Order: sequence, then C-alpha cells, then structure tokens
Amino acid sequence: MNKLINPQETIRIIQKNNFHFQKRFGQNFLIDENVLRNIIVSSEITKEDCVLEIGPGIGTMTQALCDAAGHVVTVEIDGSLIPILRETLADYDNVTILNDDVLKLDLPKLIGEQNDGKPVKVVANLPYYITTPIIMGLFESHAPLQSVTVMVQKEVADRMQAGPGTKDYGALSLAVQYYSEPKIVQLVPPHCFIPRPNVGSAVIRLLRHIVPPVETEDEDFLFRVIHAAFGQRRKTLTNALYGGMKLPKEKTLAALSALSLPENIRGEALSLPQFAALAELLRRP
Ligand code: SAM
Repeated sequence: MNKLINPQETIRIIQKNNFHFQKRFGQNFLIDENVLRNIIVSSEITKEDCVLEIGPGIGTMTQALCDAAGHVVTVEIDGSLIPILRETLADYDNVTILNDDVLKLDLPKLIGEQNDGKPVKVVANLPYYITTPIIMGLFESHAPLQSVTVMVQKEVADRMQAGPGTKDYGALSLAVQYYSEPKIVQLVPPHCFIPRPNVGSAVIRLLRHIVPPVETEDEDFLFRVIHAAFGQRRKTLTNALYGGMKLPKEKTLAALSALSLPENIRGEALSLPQFAALAELLRRP
C-alpha cells in the first residue's frame, strides 16, 4: 500500500471509496509530510511503545505510527472509514482498529486490555469540535498516559500554554498544566489539510507529570474552584466563587488575606500554586 501522506494519494483513496467528508466529525486530513514527520519525531515513539491514536481518518498518520511503534490502537467514530482503514493499513500486523466514540470509551480498561495497563503515548490530529473534552477526558480518566502529542486549533494550543495575567489563561490552562508540561512543537497552516480548516493549527506536546506540581487533598474541589473563578471572569474572585459555588464571601476574603492576596483580585491573576493553596483553605469547614 502506498503512503497516504500527499494530496494525490489522499484524493485517490477518497474518490476510489466514494468517501464524503462529514463536517460534524471535524474531518480535516493531513497531507503534509514534514508536519507528519515532526509529529512522529516529537512524540518520541519507539518500538517499545503502545500508541493510542484518536481519529485515524483514512489512516495517514496511522501508517507512520505503525512504522515507528510496537503497537497502535486507533479509535475512529465514522463507520464509513473502517473499510478504508482496513485497506490502507493492510500491510501492518501491529494495529488494532476500533469503531467507537473516544468520549464514550473506558480508557483505563482499554489500556489494561491493549497494553497490560502500562502507560501509552497518545498521538492524534484531533477533531477540533471536541478538543477540550478529549484532552480533559484523557487526563481525568486517570488512564496511564506517558505523553499526549496532538494537533489542535492554534488558539487552543495557546490557551493550554498560557500563564496568569494573559488573555488566553483559563481553566483549560490550569487543568493541562496540573496534569502535564505543555510545549508547542510547530504551527501548521490550513493548506496542510484536505479540506482546509478555517483556522490555524498547532502541534502541542503534553508531557504527563509523574506527580502533579501542586499538592491537593481534593482534586475535584480544586477544579470546582478553578471553574467557578473563570465562569465569571470579569468578576472579582470573591464574587465569582459566591456566584458559582455559593461560597460565603467572608470565607473567600479570609482565605485571600491568609495568602496575602488583595481582596479585589480576579481569578485570572492566580497561579496554579495559588489556586491550590486557596482551595485547601476554602475546603476547611
Ligand atoms: N488522523 C487523520 C489525519 O490526520 O488525516 C484524521 C484527522 S481528522 C482532524 C479527525 C478524525 O477524528 C476524523 O477521522 C473523525 O472522523 C474522527 N473523530 C471525530 N470525532 C470522533 C470521536 N468522538 N471519536 C473518535 N474519532 C472521532
């Protein structure tokens, strides 16, 4: 089977199989060889690795992953792509093709079955309409992951990397940075895909922290505080936590004072360690 990573071969496979792109599944297929090579190199895959790919499309990246990894498990929601994948990946005996919605999968169970519960590397050109739920689902499932190397919309990559006090900083930045160290690998223009997306893209690598950078007794409570703080971004933190969690204003003000933070501070000014310290104080009765 020919390598798919060029416009001619991609168009040939699409036409031969009478495949119709489905906008609702965020289907933009990669056609740039340099970008693909960069993704494979930056994800540091070896023959020892099991890779989980989300959304293989016609199998362009899957072919390169199969060449580099020991085993590849790839999950595609669109049933009409499964016979195409069987054809384009026919040369490989190290791939498992699943027709499923990644958001509905029990990831720890899947990784238990496919890789004896050992950490996997996730590599994907993600469907942009569900980037955040996929990333959060990967981390919050507490599935064993070593790294996540993904193509996302450029704005979303910026949000994942952003720090306090910037316009891009928010709940996604804090969640991603709690679980991993993000690093943008490459910016990718629309002409690297068929069809072209309306937005710029970026490859971002999230290297999973072995231990989170802050300590918390109650992860769930920490993230409730973070979500409430950014749910009403223009409000002071005290008002946002009262609006979002019904936390008494006196309690938040006392906690801010204990942390030597101004009483009119907004959530967007707090770092992850400050949110963790605040949540520990607010959790106490
Ligand atoms: N990996 C291919 C490539 O790079 O050319 C295709 C990437 S395309 C941006 C996203 C892929 O994710 C599509 O094949 C789409 O059908 C699939 N997809 C969309 N939603 C999904 C879901 N919930 N679960 C699994 N796959 C999904």
